[in-house]
Amino acid sequence: QVPILQVEQLKTYYPIRKGIFSRTVGHVKAVDDVTFSIYPGETLGLVGESGCGKSTIGKTIIRLEQPTEGEILFDGQSISAFSLKEMQGIRTDLQIIFQDPYSSLNPRKRVEDILAEPLQVHQLLPKHEIPRQVEKLLEKVGLPKSYKDRYPHEFSGGQRQRIGIARALSLNPKLIICDEPVSALDVSIQAQILNLLKDLQHEMGLTYLFIAHGLGAVKYISDRIAVMYLGKIVEIAKTKEIFEHPKHPYTQVLLNAYPVPNPRLRSKERIIVQGDLPSPVNPPNGCRFHTRCPYVQAVCREKEPVLSSDEHAVACHFPLA
Ligand code: SF4
Ligand code: MG
Repeated sequence: QVPILQVEQLKTYYPIRKGIFSRTVGHVKAVDDVTFSIYPGETLGLVGESGCGKSTIGKTIIRLEQPTEGEILFDGQSISAFSLKEMQGIRTDLQIIFQDPYSSLNPRKRVEDILAEPLQVHQLLPKHEIPRQVEKLLEKVGLPKSYKDRYPHEFSGGQRQRIGIARALSLNPKLIICDEPVSALDVSIQAQILNLLKDLQHEMGLTYLFIAHGLGAVKYISDRIAVMYLGKIVEIAKTKEIFEHPKHPYTQVLLNAYPVPNPRLRSKERIIVQGDLPSPVNPPNGCRFHTRCPYVQAVCREKEPVLSSDEHAVACHFPLA
């Protein structure tokens, strides 16, 4: 099977500027040599604590951020060197849903105009067919078509996220980057939105990159999970494997933050992470997790572990059995 998206050795660095001449004094290494693929119809979960670079990966793919190095192949085409104009040309296939449905919808526009805008920009439909298409989109995301005359502030968080999803769907995309789409919602609403995303995936053959800081939502929606720590992927495997046989100590830490129904397993495997998240400006030498890892050895401080290339890939000198 051919991947729909291939991210190869991607680096996204932000310069840190100082003084009146804006001299560059360092870089935030937000994404630091990341490689992964996503296959058509699949959901890849991308997990890690805030500041680990997971949103930056999403934003770099759709070029809200500029890649520093590396390559992004979408549908077999190298898009990392595309101009913004060329990017615009593939934006029908590549969409993003943001975390905060409160700030991502223009408050001065009616829902109809919000949903019609991408259709008008890309001229995918004759003008007179757009109102009917807007109604179809609302129905698709489980909202009454009469809502098209309302403004974003008239909706709940869950309803706004449905509108955000409708907008992403309007151009019939292939891949949707879901950047923490349920993190800002009440727990009771989260499952509804996840179910909607799953239903739409089956109906429309969508592929998702699903970004989250915790494993809860990701467990429910992902076929595979990639775990990120300080700009790097430290483990990537099928969802079941990540939950049942985590190999990286950091993945185990994340699993401990996730409620485990079996208390015996919990006490036996519970490991506590030490210290604060190091700065992505000067990440630790060797294994970036060594300052917090309970299993650290001398070699971990010197030699950087590489991500193995098997189906259950891990970057650790002493992976858990
Ligand atoms: Fe821990 Fe060493 Fe593995 Fe890093 S390489 S996660 S420090 S055991
Ligand atoms: Mg984020």
